Amino acid sequence: MFDLLIVNATLPDGRTGQGIGIRDGRIAEIAPGLQAEAGQIVDAGGHLLSPPFVDPHFHMDATLSLGLPRMNRSGTLLEGIALWGDLRPTLTKEAVVERAVRYCDLAVSKGLMAVRSHVDVSDPRLVTVEALLEVREIVAPYLDLQLVAFPQDGYYRHPDAAAALERALDMGVDVVGGIPHFERTMEAGRASVEALCRIAADRGLGVDMHCDETDDPLSRHVETLAEQTVRFGLQGRVAGSHLTSMHSMDNYYVSKLLPLMAEARLAAIPNPLINIMIQGRHDTYPKRRGLTRIPELMAAGIDVGLGQDCVMDPWYSMGTGDLLDVAHMAVHATQLGSQDDKRALFEAVTVNSARIIGLQDYGLQVGCHADMVLLQARDPAEAIRLRPNRLKVIRRGKVIAETAPEVTRLSLPGRPGELDPAAYAPRDAS
Ligand SMILES: [Zn+2]
Repeated sequence: MFDLLIVNATLPDGRTGQGIGIRDGRIAEIAPGLQAEAGQIVDAGGHLLSPPFVDPHFHMDATLSLGLPRMNRSGTLLEGIALWGDLRPTLTKEAVVERAVRYCDLAVSKGLMAVRSHVDVSDPRLVTVEALLEVREIVAPYLDLQLVAFPQDGYYRHPDAAAALERALDMGVDVVGGIPHFERTMEAGRASVEALCRIAADRGLGVDMHCDETDDPLSRHVETLAEQTVRFGLQGRVAGSHLTSMHSMDNYYVSKLLPLMAEARLAAIPNPLINIMIQGRHDTYPKRRGLTRIPELMAAGIDVGLGQDCVMDPWYSMGTGDLLDVAHMAVHATQLGSQDDKRALFEAVTVNSARIIGLQDYGLQVGCHADMVLLQARDPAEAIRLRPNRLKVIRRGKVIAETAPEVTRLSLPGRPGELDPAAYAPRDAS
């Protein structure tokens, strides 16, 4: 007897006709054609059942603030940072909580159930930290929120940042952040990486830095981050976010850098939507894309998770809370277009990101939390192409969000009355 039984599901690895039995909030059994008594039975109709989407890089303290105090006219990173600097002193805890919780509603509706959010610690009032710690509690029943202490204005560049970052960690923020490329000199950036890795080692925490989010090929803080990771014994607990300078680096240098990153078990978190939007702004033509070398990172055995970074905030006016938008952009911007590539990018917005942020009991295996999302698609490649409706979003064995399947009725002479999605599948999906 299961609490919930899902029948006729297709799994991301291609297994079809699978039954998933759920008991006490965990996956109790997975088998083809599984039949049993259950409190509730969901017929997946052959659709794709996936573990939840995981966003390893987000800014929940800024989300949904688009237009406050005004719009970003140039669309640049620097105007975004200046705008945020104007908005930050006016923020109230209540307003940040309200926007963040409203964002989490949207996220859950898209099957996104875990988010690593950076939280700005540059305002010594730490309103953003207080707010997001409260949000972490509020949303815990349906979304795992992990927080990174992020010195947006520079760990050394802003005089209060070092003390504020330590206080944020004392208050319960989970991970140490940084922004070495925004310090005033290369040396200050290097020193910040070292200082922040030391703090993480002393406190037994992980590190996730905004690292080299620039088009400057000589911005090489990722090298320092890998080296300090090894020095402090932090292998497997450190991520470099963005890494856009790698796009512009010399190829010979990158051939030396990739093995160093792999040895340090450094994770990479590119943010394709933001990177393609913000990088290359000083170029005329040809214009660089700015996205880091995702195929080469993956080929070097480096864990790659893809993040959203922003949804409707001073840096980015777009965004939907849908990690499939991120994967869709990655397919185009990296030219990773084969079926295998798309499966790898689907993993980059699900299992890879879950591993990078250290989620426990995640996945579609017996014993894991019964957290999953049923998509109106047949396989991961089609899911990325269509970014389809999330028919059911399930958390600990309970349906927490539902969207009706999309059906289009046609009124065309001599044509069927309903558009058949199956008629648009590739002849060979391998
Ligand atoms: Zn960011």
